[in-house]
Amino acid sequence: MRILNHKIGLGESVQVKMDFARLNTRDTIEVPIIVERGKKDGPCLLLIGGVHGDETNGVEIVRQIVAKGLNKPEIGTIICIPLLNVFGFINQTREFPDGRDLNRVFPGSDKGSLASRFAYHIMKEVIPHIDYCIDFHTGGAQRFNYSQIRIDEDDEEILNLAKIFGSPYIVYSKSQERTFRRSMVKLGIKVLLFEGGKSLNLDKTVTKIGIQGAINVIHELGLKDFSSKIIKTNITNQPIIIKSSKWIRAKHSGMYRSDVSAGQKVAKGLKLGSISDPFGDFESAFKNNQEGYILNSNHAPVVNQGDALFHIGFE
Ligand SMILES: [Zn+2]
Repeated sequence: MRILNHKIGLGESVQVKMDFARLNTRDTIEVPIIVERGKKDGPCLLLIGGVHGDETNGVEIVRQIVAKGLNKPEIGTIICIPLLNVFGFINQTREFPDGRDLNRVFPGSDKGSLASRFAYHIMKEVIPHIDYCIDFHTGGAQRFNYSQIRIDEDDEEILNLAKIFGSPYIVYSKSQERTFRRSMVKLGIKVLLFEGGKSLNLDKTVTKIGIQGAINVIHELGLKDFSSKIIKTNITNQPIIIKSSKWIRAKHSGMYRSDVSAGQKVAKGLKLGSISDPFGDFESAFKNNQEGYILNSNHAPVVNQGDALFHIGFE
């Protein structure tokens, strides 16, 4: 296996540093790519976080997997990139310094924007080795995602892997053009996109579910025997499969209080929350109009008319 001119043999552990983009101070930015190969050849799994620079919980999941040594396979290869968008992480923003969302410029171009060049090099240097990927994300801004795996519909193998991952929800969502997931799916790579938590936040429950999911998948792919650590899904902890979903948006601007939490099943007619002015004059409650599950809940205390408040999924 060759990544960025490093030859990595069976049984080897190597940390390769990707450094083809610089800060505007001319300082080099290095993105560590941690490659662990088993003694026998086999499938290659990529665990990646921080495609969006402010999605710290995804970074934390991959960081802990590396720190705990869970990324050392007996067979095949595990590649960990805990933090892809180092630029965004430094600035605590989702985007690249050029304002671009890395996850909207794939597969990238070597003559494009900074983000686009970054995407291009990842696609050229790392992705050709990959068979399976778990891409760890969080909700944007204050929008808290209950732990869920997003997959394309109509792929039995990926649905099976999503069930083995074992997050509470599996959400069918077609990958959009120019996303990292879409570019990988087009190459035949099996991609699980994990969503859990919100930006600039660490949530221990979400982290635990993400790490456990990775352990379950590593075991299932035969990369490492985690018999003592895996949690099998059964009738009581089977993920709920969400086939469609919608966003509920704020009808007014103002101070916002929610009455329900992410992960909760909500009946038709249940009060979801209320919006008021800050002065005690105006208050408006709103109700749920279709039974479903809260996949995402906005934790912002003040919202604008039209802001996404809840993402509700339906079986
Ligand atoms: Zn993201």
